[in-house]
Amino acid sequence: MSNLVDKLLCDNVKNLKPYESARRLFAAGTGEIQQTWLNANESPFANSYDVDSERFNRYPDCQPTSVINSYAAYSGVAPENTLVSRGADEGIELLIRAFCNPAQDAILICPPTYGMYAISAETFNVDVHKAPLNEDFSLDVPGICAYKDKVKLVFICSPNNPTGTTVDAQQLQQVVEHFADSALVVVDEAYIEFDWQSSWANKLATYPNLVVLRTLSKAFALAGIRCGFTLAAPAAIQALLKVIAPYPIPEPVAQIASQALSASGILRMQDQVSDLNAQRAILKQQLMTIPHVELVGDDKANFILFRCEQKQQLMQYLVDNHFLIRDQSKQINLQNCLRITVGTAEQNQQLMDLIFSFFQQQESAQ
Ligand SMILES: *Cc1c(COP(=O)(O)O)cnc(C)c1O
Repeated sequence: MSNLVDKLLCDNVKNLKPYESARRLFAAGTGEIQQTWLNANESPFANSYDVDSERFNRYPDCQPTSVINSYAAYSGVAPENTLVSRGADEGIELLIRAFCNPAQDAILICPPTYGMYAISAETFNVDVHKAPLNEDFSLDVPGICAYKDKVKLVFICSPNNPTGTTVDAQQLQQVVEHFADSALVVVDEAYIEFDWQSSWANKLATYPNLVVLRTLSKAFALAGIRCGFTLAAPAAIQALLKVIAPYPIPEPVAQIASQALSASGILRMQDQVSDLNAQRAILKQQLMTIPHVELVGDDKANFILFRCEQKQQLMQYLVDNHFLIRDQSKQINLQNCLRITVGTAEQNQQLMDLIFSFFQQQESAQ
């Protein structure tokens, strides 16, 4: 690093590393060979959209009305409860920027969970406290509640990435009520389409400190357009509008999001979710036949988590055969755990064939 940059860089940024997505790491050195990506919980379906360039010379609306109205209707909330941003990741960042004073306030997370809450907080010099999930991945409610008045935001992911577990409604209610006058409880529902009836969006009117995060990146198969939503009481939405960029949603993104949220777009998404749910059940059954594999957590999203002692060799074998899944073994209570994103029937079968042949080789080597 240059001396000047080193001298100028914020203290809290000095120790950070650029985000290393598997895409970045894996793309290097693999050349032209086609890879199968089952690592980032993306949808395997690439749907097509029309884009009209008529207004590309103009700045877009900050909060495009058709996107806000259709997402609010889809979620059963009012437009005043709805904010659209550059992915749910930007929603996380806006919450931290609007509600946490740097070098003073803190957030609470419940690992093992999604990594961006902590990463976002660290970039803004906001402390991260942890109340790990219990061994069965339920919330440690007393552990969480002990942080009253010590945190401004409590992040709870449900269905949780990477455990696939949905948070028990009674536990969540206890937490939301406990922090009623001291913190916002942010329920990350990135995977809610895979467990729709467990959504908390319909409780916004009951709990003014409840915030729900959503995205088009998973069930809607639009990770590439970067579009997410924050659902909250109007006062909280107004606070986030103070810190959001003037034009966060590019015009093509707004057009594509509106089409995805039309009646036919929603029906297509629901069909694809049913398809993925059926595929996940098949994958699960096949994994269960392998003695060295132990399924971990639950299956309320588009991925499966499992534990196996040979996880390092298995990952390498899959990488050598151009299949990428996700190593989750560094997270608390997830020793030796790998996560598979459900793909198309064909991709899943190819993956399972590889996994079966890996364990056959292991057997015959003994
Ligand atoms: C994928 C994911 C997100 C990020 O969504 P984007 O809209 O793509 O930024 C947020 N939360 C969880 C739990 C996720 O798995």
